[in-house]
Amino acid sequence: MKISPFFVKKKFGKNHIFSIMPHQSVLLFDITLEIPYICASMSAKTVHIKSFGCQMNKLDTALVTSALRQGGFGLVDDEKEADVVLINTCSVRGHAEEKVLSHLGNLKHIKESRPELVVGVIGCMAQRLGAELLGHEAVDVVCGPAQIPQITSLVTEALQEKKKTLAVTRKIRQKADEEETQTLEDFESVFDSDDKQIPNQAFVRAMRGCNNFCTYCIVPYVRGPEVSRPPNAIIEQIKRLAGEGVKLVTLLGQTVNSYKYTAGEKTYCLADLLQMASEVEGIEWLRFVTNYPLEEFFDEIIQAMADLPKVCNFLHMPTQSGSDRILKAMNRNYTVRYYMELLDRARATVPGIAIAGDFIVGFPGETEEDFQATVELVKKVRYKNCFVFKYSPRPGTTAENRLEDDVSEKIKKKRNTELLGVQEKISDELSKEFLNKDVLVLVEGLSKKPHLNKAENKNNPQLVGRTATDWIVVFNGPESLAGEFATVKITKTAPLTLFGELL
Ligand code: SAM
Ligand code: SF4
Repeated sequence: MKISPFFVKKKFGKNHIFSIMPHQSVLLFDITLEIPYICASMSAKTVHIKSFGCQMNKLDTALVTSALRQGGFGLVDDEKEADVVLINTCSVRGHAEEKVLSHLGNLKHIKESRPELVVGVIGCMAQRLGAELLGHEAVDVVCGPAQIPQITSLVTEALQEKKKTLAVTRKIRQKADEEETQTLEDFESVFDSDDKQIPNQAFVRAMRGCNNFCTYCIVPYVRGPEVSRPPNAIIEQIKRLAGEGVKLVTLLGQTVNSYKYTAGEKTYCLADLLQMASEVEGIEWLRFVTNYPLEEFFDEIIQAMADLPKVCNFLHMPTQSGSDRILKAMNRNYTVRYYMELLDRARATVPGIAIAGDFIVGFPGETEEDFQATVELVKKVRYKNCFVFKYSPRPGTTAENRLEDDVSEKIKKKRNTELLGVQEKISDELSKEFLNKDVLVLVEGLSKKPHLNKAENKNNPQLVGRTATDWIVVFNGPESLAGEFATVKITKTAPLTLFGELL
C-alpha cells in the first residue's frame, strides 16, 4: 500500500511531525520527547470491507472500519489491492446468504494464487454458521456481531500466525455478562462512526438484539436478547458526533420504540432519548428506526415527534401482513385493527407524518384472501413507501420448523409485484402533492447519475438528498453542498423521487 499522510496522522496522532520518505519509510519527530528523531519503517496492511444488510450492519461496518484504521490498517476500495477482505453479512433472507457464499467462492479462487490473503466473515451469518463457515476453504476469521471489538487482533493474528480463528457467542440467548457488555459499550463509543458513509449523518445504536421471536425471523438467534444502552453513553456519543459536524442522527434498534433503561428512580424511554438528543447543539434532525407496533411508550414517542422540531415526522413501522390470521401465525402479537388505531393516533398528533412499512408475502398458509387483505391495508394506510419481501424460510426459526413453505415461488413473485404496484400508485399520488412547493433537504452527495443536466446548471452535478419526511430529492447543485441543508423547488415527481431546482 502507498502510505498517505492521512494514514500516518491516524496512526501516530497529533504529537508528531512527519515526512514520508522513498520506499515507504516514515521519518517521525515526536514533539513530546527529548530525542529529536525516530525513524520508522511502516509496511501497513490493507483491508477491503464489503457490507450487506440493514442499518445495524452499516453501523457495525463503520465501527469496524474505524477500529481497523486506528489499529494501523489502510482501507482500500479495490479488493484486488487488499491484504485482508472482510465481509459483513446478513442472515435475514436466504438470498443475502447465497450472495456471500458465492463471493466466498470467488475469494477461494483468488487465494489459490495469493495464499497470504486473509478473509474474514463478520456479522449475522458468522454467528449463525460459526464453525461451519470457518471450514470454508476461503475463510480465515469468523467473528460474530458481539465480538467485533476483537476484530483488529483477530485479523492481525490471522496475518501473522496464519491460523483460522472463530469468535462467536456460544449461548446466544443468554444475556451478555457485564464485561462483555462493557467491551461493546467501549467499542461503540471509542470508535464512534468516524467513517461516515454519508457526510454529516450518523447512526447511533439505542439498543441491541430482539425479544420478539416473530416466527419467520432469524434476528433473535443471531443478535441475542434485547439490551438498551445507557442514555448517557448514547447522548455523549451524539455530542461527540455533533462536534464532528454531524447534523442528522438516526437512533437504531430492531424495535427501537421499546427502548427502556432504568437508572436509579428513573426509567428512560425513547421519548426521553429524543428529548435529550434534541438538546445537543449542532444536531438538526433526529430519526429512529425500526418500530414495532406496540402500545407501550407509543403516545409519548409520537408526542415527542409533535413537540420537538428536530425529530423528523417520519415513522417506519413494519406491518408484515394485513390478515389477522397470518399475523397470528407470524407471532406478531397485534391485529390489523390495533395497528390501524396506532397509526390513527400518530396522524392525529403529527399531521403530515410520513409512514413507511415492511410486508412479507407468501408466508406459509397465506391464501389469496389473506393477500388481498394486505392489499386493502396498504390502500387504506397510504404509506409513503413500503418494503416488500418474499417469505424466505430461515433455519431454526419456528416457521421453518413447524410450517410448510407452501406458497410457490411463482405466487410469491406475483404477490410481490402486485403489492409493489399498489404502493407505487399511492407513492406517485403522494409525491404530486409536492409539485411547485419548496422543500428543505439534507444533501447526501452526488446522485447515481451526477452528469445529468450539468450543462443547463452552470456545470453543477446532479445531487441527491432527503426531506425530513424521508422523500428522496434529486437536483443539480455544487458538490460542496454534500452534508449541508438546501432548499429545493419541486418541478417534477416520480413515485419515490422528487426532482427540483436549487433555490
Ligand atoms: N425489527 C423489524 C420489525 O419488527 O419489523 C424488522 C427487522 S428485519 C431485519 C427487516 C424486515 O425483513 C422485516 O420487517 C421483514 O419484513 C423482513 N424479514 C424478516 N425475516 C424475513 C424472512 N424470513 N423472509 C422474508 N422477509 C423477512
Ligand atoms: Fe425480527 Fe420480529 Fe424482532 Fe423484528 S421484531 S427483529 S421481525 S423478531
